[in-house]
Amino acid sequence: MKLIGPFKQIVTLANLSLRGKLSDDQLEIIVDGGVVVNEGKIQKVGNFEELRSENQDIDIEFIKGEQIALPAFVDSHTHICFGGNRANDFAMRNAGKTYLEIAESGGGIWSSVQHTRNASEEELLKTLLERINFLISLGITTIEIKSGYGLDVENELKMLRMIKKAQQQTQATLVPTCLSAHLKPRDFEGSNQEYLNYIINDILPKVKEEGLAKRVDIFIEKSAFQPEESKDFLLKTKDLGFEITVHADQFTPGSSRIAVEVGAKSADHLEATIDEDIDFIAQSDTVATALPGASLGLGEKFTPARKLLDAGAILAIASDWNPGSAPMGNLITQASILATYEKLTTAEVLAGMTFRSAYALGLEDRGKLEQGLKADIVTYSTNNFQNVLYNQGSLKAENVYIDGIKQN
Ligand SMILES: [Zn+2]
Repeated sequence: MKLIGPFKQIVTLANLSLRGKLSDDQLEIIVDGGVVVNEGKIQKVGNFEELRSENQDIDIEFIKGEQIALPAFVDSHTHICFGGNRANDFAMRNAGKTYLEIAESGGGIWSSVQHTRNASEEELLKTLLERINFLISLGITTIEIKSGYGLDVENELKMLRMIKKAQQQTQATLVPTCLSAHLKPRDFEGSNQEYLNYIINDILPKVKEEGLAKRVDIFIEKSAFQPEESKDFLLKTKDLGFEITVHADQFTPGSSRIAVEVGAKSADHLEATIDEDIDFIAQSDTVATALPGASLGLGEKFTPARKLLDAGAILAIASDWNPGSAPMGNLITQASILATYEKLTTAEVLAGMTFRSAYALGLEDRGKLEQGLKADIVTYSTNNFQNVLYNQGSLKAENVYIDGIKQN
């Protein structure tokens, strides 16, 4: 057991609701606070001096200078296991080239598939761990990671096995998701339907057997999989015992409805969601995940986060870090910018990157600084927590704790 502190402010996020809008005066801010950690869990959060006098013999981990503490962040949507780089796609898109022109010149998702297939296991693992360590340095200690650049049995399993291997080499929690239904690979001979059957019959049983992922994702979009075939696929994966998440409504509306109907844990993207479907999502337990990094990478509009919150949805904010449409990877910067465009309160942004995104991953043991929860904490050298979003990601995390242990 130890006491960490004193912190100028601790923003606990305690007592905030899982769904709907939040105001900043609902934030619990403990001034001159401390956190008692026991066996990786939070034992108590309160005034540092009071905690110290309650536990005379307690070990104290003193904080240098003035710092504030927040629950560490949860990035509930990434594609950070990949080979290659798509800087040329980015440059071409900004130069006005179309999706088709980029694909014809050797770019697009297919290029990431080729690079990922060609990458050795060592290379994939090394770059994956570098990205994980970058995220930890931002205060992100729980990271969802999708497959989806292998698109055949061998390479989808290779990706998921590397994610599993990475888990053995990091203290961060990695949550793997099978996204074999990212798109039908060019070298698959058969229809979309036949490819989805191939995933069900050939990929998912092996994923299950090796314990590589408990979640399945699909990209429902004109250029990927169509609504009806996707719904059928999702119901089958559910029967196999997988949790579901969906890439929904990125460019065209309609698929978030399917996500809700099949009971998905989350519907992610939603840039094109229509008002009627916003209400439909808001009345469900499916988390609406905004991915501002994709809007910033593509120059597209943001997810209607304000409307979703006002309607009562559970809004998470994640990075979508991937080599094509969201190359930045800095969730704090992205969420801060989303807040300025969508008019989100600090409480709503912090909730979206912590306990609400944790809920999307089925992890209800983290995301707030409350007794009994996982002691994952991020601190900043500042005397005002508002500076974290105000600096739009340029205020670097000072210390990152996982299970109460300092990582840096
Ligand atoms: Zn994505």
